[in-house]
Amino acid sequence: MHLSLTRISFSDMFAASHIEQVEALLSRRGAVVLFSGPDGCGKTTTLLVAGCEAMYTEDNEKVMILGSISDADSAYLAAETARRGGLALSVISADDAIEAWRLAVEYGIESSDIAGIIAQRLLKEICSNCITSYTAPPDILARIGMVGQNVALYRGEGCPECENTGFRGRLAIHELLILNDKLHTLMCNSASLETIRNAAQQSGMRTFRQGGIQRALEGHTTIEEVFNKT
Ligand SMILES: [Zn+2]
Repeated sequence: MHLSLTRISFSDMFAASHIEQVEALLSRRGAVVLFSGPDGCGKTTTLLVAGCEAMYTEDNEKVMILGSISDADSAYLAAETARRGGLALSVISADDAIEAWRLAVEYGIESSDIAGIIAQRLLKEICSNCITSYTAPPDILARIGMVGQNVALYRGEGCPECENTGFRGRLAIHELLILNDKLHTLMCNSASLETIRNAAQQSGMRTFRQGGIQRALEGHTTIEEVFNKT
């Protein structure tokens, strides 16, 4: 019962398009996987849920959940776990996945020891009691790259249940960065963050903005909330 609850909350936590990649990251050994986000975004909760998921394996003694990485000592612990063939899971305070990666390397973790980073931000969720849809106007369509299409967006009209704000609850969105040799080389050669960010997107990193737009199209949040917070 306990395990099935854990698995439900894990799949509820991530967008469907991310689950397979997150599971692949959590099955890695000899690696560090980091969860990042600003303070108060719920990244520690995500770490713990993901840690339970990673331990749902036969070699679960190799999975180590470490406290936050915030200096050379904590970075050393994570790197040592990876070098001994384990999977080190930890949190790091940073605004996005690229920044978290750069910071981890600055603290002393070899870039090649880091398998990936799951960055998190919270958006306000539309109140399910007063949600209504409308047709996206041309200026919004231009901003989300869907010019000429008929697109429905959503907002809350305001009701007693949401104290007329149109929002109730929070929704996590993620930026998922899976590192590869090309990206490690760029980081080791001290390429600019701009160059690294572009290369990461070419390697398939889905940005907060892209993930947020997807959630807005699904009716979980407003497009304005996505534009404000990503
Ligand atoms: Zn409402």
